[in-house]
Amino acid sequence: MSAVQGQLPLEGMPRRLYSCTPSRLNAWLDCRRRYRFSYLDRPQPSKGPAWAHNSVGASVHNALAGWWREPYERRSPLTAAILLTNGWITEGFRDAEQSAHWLGRARDLVSGYVATLDPTDDPVGVERTVATRTKVMALSGRIDRLDRRGDELVVVDYKTGRRPLTQDDARSSLALAVYAVAASTMMRTPCRTVELHHLPTGEILEWRHTEESLERHLRRAEELATEASAADERYRAVMPAPARAPGRTASRGDGSRGGGSSGSAPAAASGRTPGAAAGGTSGGAPGAAVGGASGGAAGGAPGERPFVGPAAVPDEIDALFPPNPGPICSWCDFRRHCPEGRSVAPDRRPWDGLAE
Ligand code: SF4
Repeated sequence: MSAVQGQLPLEGMPRRLYSCTPSRLNAWLDCRRRYRFSYLDRPQPSKGPAWAHNSVGASVHNALAGWWREPYERRSPLTAAILLTNGWITEGFRDAEQSAHWLGRARDLVSGYVATLDPTDDPVGVERTVATRTKVMALSGRIDRLDRRGDELVVVDYKTGRRPLTQDDARSSLALAVYAVAASTMMRTPCRTVELHHLPTGEILEWRHTEESLERHLRRAEELATEASAADERYRAVMPAPARAPGRTASRGDGSRGGGSSGSAPAAASGRTPGAAAGGTSGGAPGAAVGGASGGAAGGAPGERPFVGPAAVPDEIDALFPPNPGPICSWCDFRRHCPEGRSVAPDRRPWDGLAE
């Protein structure tokens, strides 16, 4: 039994529902230290600079969502290109030339993709928030697109990362599965099919769940929620609010560039709004939480958020939220605060996640 499991409440005792998103559960699964930095230490420790690949992803997602909000007659490839251009996010690129180059590529991506769509076939939802509850968690998240096909709903997730996807990515995605459950519950309509739409290749990876496979994903989500909830409670018990002041000490070894999105390798990035932890699973999984606060050096330029280090925590809490060093650490927003992560994975420049 793990330390966390050992602190679970007794059977039958009432407990507060753990409020979460798939991103939060995946953060817990991927790296508990990153989970702590992302969701518990307040103010949140400074993140590294924004990532260009997340800017591309967020710009594409925004353009596609905007396209569906246009009247039918304006839903053309040209409109998609205009929306993309008008909403282009420039953070993280090496320079204006690189940004312009990628604007052109992304424009081709969205206009090519919408050319494959039927503009009269309105989705049930775009950027639709769905939620569901179980005995242990209140889970919510945002679906890129929810389609109706016949008598069923289909969860559609856009992907812009450079890594080609497989059907296994759709099958194994906890986020997509729980979105299907939540959509089905909310709309009182069956929803078993999930799709990854990989824009760079034009591929659609589909997986049709069974009741059993959806149930398995939901139980897995509950297991993670139960563990994370117990750890959260311990954190709050040991670190009462007034003591959760920022550790404004210089970060260990700061001076390296901050790492990536909260653990989202570019190969898997789906991209969202830079500067905000966004939907999507993070940490090497699809749908990355994305580039963060400016998090500059201490005493940065006027208007910049001052540098914030992690909360000073006792050993018990550090042990409850251990690091999980690996390749993903190159892309972790919090690597500047994490010597273990920096020791195993090299620094990356903000534009290194862009495909060649
Ligand atoms: S750098 Fe790696 S080990 Fe450290 S917090 Fe980030 S993901 Fe976890």
